[in-house]
Amino acid sequence: MSTEKVFEASPESKASAKQLRLFAILAWVLAMAGQVFAILKLIHDETLVWLIVAIVVILALAITGSWLWKKANRLDPASEQDKVRFFVQNQLGAILGVLAFLPMVILILTNKEISGKTKGIAGVIAVVAMLVAGVTGVDFNPPSVEKYTKEINEQTGTLKKLNLNTDLVYWAREGNKYHIYEDCQHIKNREGVSSGTVKEVWEKKGISELCKTCQARAMRENNVSEDELNNPG
Ligand SMILES: [Zn+2]
Repeated sequence: MSTEKVFEASPESKASAKQLRLFAILAWVLAMAGQVFAILKLIHDETLVWLIVAIVVILALAITGSWLWKKANRLDPASEQDKVRFFVQNQLGAILGVLAFLPMVILILTNKEISGKTKGIAGVIAVVAMLVAGVTGVDFNPPSVEKYTKEINEQTGTLKKLNLNTDLVYWAREGNKYHIYEDCQHIKNREGVSSGTVKEVWEKKGISELCKTCQARAMRENNVSEDELNNPG
C-alpha cells in the first residue's frame, strides 16, 4: 500500500500517556513500600488484622497502577517489532502485581513464629490478592502501533473508496461512530460535536466505525456501488 502511514501518537496523547505512567509508577512504588512495611512489621499473630488491611491497600494500589498503565498504553502503544519490549510494556501491570505480593507470600508461608491459624488465614488472603493483582494486570488485548496503523488505514481507505477527497470527519461526545457529514441526522443539533481526521477520532475516542447513514449518503451522492466499497483492493 503506497499510502501506508505508520501510526504515531500525537504530542497531546504522548503527554497524557506520560502523566498516566508517572501516576502508575507512583502507585506501584507505594504498593512495594506497603509490602516492605507489612513484611517487617505485620507478620505476627497479634497484627493479623493489620496485615489483612495492608494486603487490601496494596492490592488497591497494584490494581490502580495497572489500570493507569493500560490506559497510557492505549494512548501511546508499543510496537510489535520489538517482542521483548512489547511484552514487558503491555504486561508490566501483571508482573508488578505478582511482585507486590510474592515475597510476602513466601515469608508468611515460611514464617516459624506465627501460629498455623495466622499462617493459614494470612497465606490464603495474600495468595488470592497476588492472583487478583496478576490477572487484572494482564492486558489480554494489548494495543500496538501496528494494530493502530491498520485500523486507521482501513478507515482512510473506506473514505477514499467513497470518493471523498478529505478525511475530515465529525463525532459527537457521546457516540461510537464517526460521521462524514456535519448535518447527519445522528449528530445534527447535538452538543459537543468535534471534527478532525480519522486518526484523531481514533486517538481521542477509540472510534473506528463509520456511521451507516453517512456511508449510504456518500455512496448515493458520489455514485459508489456496494461492490466498489467492499472491494478489498
Ligand atoms: Zn452519520
